[in-house]
Amino acid sequence: MKSVIYLDNNATTPIDPRVLEAMMPYLTNNFANANSTHQFGVEAYEVVKTARKQVADLIGAETNEIIFTSGSTEAINLAIKGVAENYSDKGKHIVTVKTEHHAVLDTCQYLETKGFEVTYLPVGTDGLIDLQALKTALRPDTILVSVMYVNNETGVIQPIKQIAQLTHEAGALFMTDATQAVGKMTVNVNEDNIDLLCLSGHKFYAPKGIGALFVRQRRPNRVKLPALIHGGGHERGLRSGTLNVPGIIALGKACELAVKEMKTNADRIRELRDYLEAELLKIPGTSVNGNTDYRLYNVTNLCFKGVDSEAMIMGLSEMENDLPLMAVSNGSACTSTSIEPSHVLTAMGLNEFLAFNCIRFSLGKFNHREELEVVIAEVSKTTDNLRALNFR
Ligand SMILES: *Cc1c(COP(=O)(O)O)cnc(C)c1O
Repeated sequence: MKSVIYLDNNATTPIDPRVLEAMMPYLTNNFANANSTHQFGVEAYEVVKTARKQVADLIGAETNEIIFTSGSTEAINLAIKGVAENYSDKGKHIVTVKTEHHAVLDTCQYLETKGFEVTYLPVGTDGLIDLQALKTALRPDTILVSVMYVNNETGVIQPIKQIAQLTHEAGALFMTDATQAVGKMTVNVNEDNIDLLCLSGHKFYAPKGIGALFVRQRRPNRVKLPALIHGGGHERGLRSGTLNVPGIIALGKACELAVKEMKTNADRIRELRDYLEAELLKIPGTSVNGNTDYRLYNVTNLCFKGVDSEAMIMGLSEMENDLPLMAVSNGSACTSTSIEPSHVLTAMGLNEFLAFNCIRFSLGKFNHREELEVVIAEVSKTTDNLRALNFR
C-alpha cells in the first residue's frame, strides 16, 4: 500500500500497537465465551471485568453503569429509544441540536414517526448552542435532552455542564454523544452530571465494532432502560449477545492508555494543529469554521473560498506522483456518499456554496510535523490550481 498522511482521525483512528497486543491472545489462544463456567471462560470473564473497570475509570463511572455495545451508533439507539419507551408516561418531548451526528438525528426523526415531538435547537455561527434557547425549549413533558460533547466536523465543545444543569432543573434526563471527547479530553460523568453517555473505541485507537453506553445508576437520576436486543440477558439484560471479548479488552486497554497519556498527547497534537492551521490560513480566502476558544485541540475545519472540497480531496489523494496519499475529509465520513452539503456547516449559517468549500483536518497521536509540511505545500498548490481552473 502507498504511504499515507492520515489527517482523518475523527472518522476513525488506527489501532495502537499496544492495544492490538493486548487483544491478540483473546483472538487466538483464549477464545472462550466469557459466560462459560469452565476455567477457560472464567479467565475471559475476569479480563472483561478488568476492561469494564478501565472504561468506567476513564469517565468517572461505576462498573455497573457500563454497557458494552458495538459502538456509539448502537449506544445512541439504545439510550434514546430506551428513554422514549420507558419515560413516555411523563411526556413525549425530546430536545436535541441541529449539528448532532446522524446517529442522534435519525433516531430522533424515527421517534417523530412514533408520536414523539423533537425540538432541534439551532446553533450560532460559531457552532455553540444558546443556553437561553435551551431554557425556552424545555417543557414539563420534556423527557430527554441530547447534546453532543464535541462536534465531529468542527471540534466545537458545547457547555455540557450548564446544559445538564438546565436539563435537570426541568426534570428531564441528560444524554451526551461523547464519541469525539472520550479518550481525548477529560470527561467525568459526575462532574458534568451526565445521565447517559456513549463512547466508541475506534475513535481513540481501539478497533471498530466496540463501544459502550454509560447508564447512570447512582442518584440523583437512576436511569431505567428497556432492552432493545433480547436474548441471553448479557450486559444486565440490556444488550444480549455473546460478549466481544477481544474488542472489550482492546477498549479497556485504549482507555487505560488514554488515562496515562492524554495530557502529553493533547499538548503535542494541539501544537501540530495550531501550526497546520496558522500555515493554511496564509492561503488567501481561507477561514476557520467554529468557535476557536471552545474547540478540541485536534481538529481544524477550514473553508477555502471558491475551491470545491471534493476536487481538493481528489487532488490530495492523487496517485500519479511520488507523494503519499493525503487523507482528509469534507463533512463527516458517515455522510460522505451524499451530495448534500454538511448539515453542521449549514446549521452554522454557511451558504451551500461555501459549505462545499470546506475541509476537515483531524489529527491524531501518530501524526508528526514533517507530514504537515507536505500537506501545507500540497494544499497551497492544489488551491491555486483549482482556483485557476475556475477563472479559465
Ligand atoms: C463516529 C461517531 C459516531 C458513530 O460511532 P460508531 O461507533 O462508528 O457507531 C457517533 N457520533 C459521533 C460524534 C461520532 O464521531
